[in-house]
Amino acid sequence: MPVDKVTQVAQTKPLHGEIPVYAQYTFGIAGEKFFRELKDNGRLMGVKCPECNLIYVPPRIYCERCFSELTEWLEIPNRGVVHTFTVSHIDLDGNRLKEPVIVALVKFDGVYGGLVHRLGRVEADKVSIGMPVEMVLKSKTKRVGSILDIDYFKPV
Ligand SMILES: [Zn+2]
Repeated sequence: MPVDKVTQVAQTKPLHGEIPVYAQYTFGIAGEKFFRELKDNGRLMGVKCPECNLIYVPPRIYCERCFSELTEWLEIPNRGVVHTFTVSHIDLDGNRLKEPVIVALVKFDGVYGGLVHRLGRVEADKVSIGMPVEMVLKSKTKRVGSILDIDYFKPV
C-alpha cells in the first residue's frame, strides 16, 4: 500500500467510508473503587491526603497539591449542600423539556471537590445556595456502577 507523505494541509484529501475504531473506557483505579462502592454498597467514598488532610470527592490516586499517593479511603456522609446550581429547560439536543432539570454542584462538609448531579423533589424556585440535600440512590437491582446510580439529591 503506497504511503503519501503530506507536507501541506492543502494536500489532504477526504476519506469516505468507515474506519473501525474500538475503545474501552475505564474509570481508573480510584473511579473503579468509587463506583463499585456506590453500586454494591450504596456508599459515597472519598480519599484523604495524609499530608494535606484534604478529602477528595470524587476520589483520585494522587493529591493534586502535594502529589502524595492517596490510599486512605473513607465513607462520605450522603448529605451535602447546594454549592451552585442551574435550571435547564432544554435537553442536550436543544429540545424543550416538559419539566426543567435542576443541576447542582453538591459539596460535602470537609470535602475538597463535590459532585455535579440532578436535584429532585424540589421546584426550581425553591432551590437556594447552601440548601442541605441528601443523596437518593436507585434501588440496588437497578444500579450499574455509574454516577446515575445516584438518582438525584433531594432537600433534607
Ligand atoms: Zn496532599
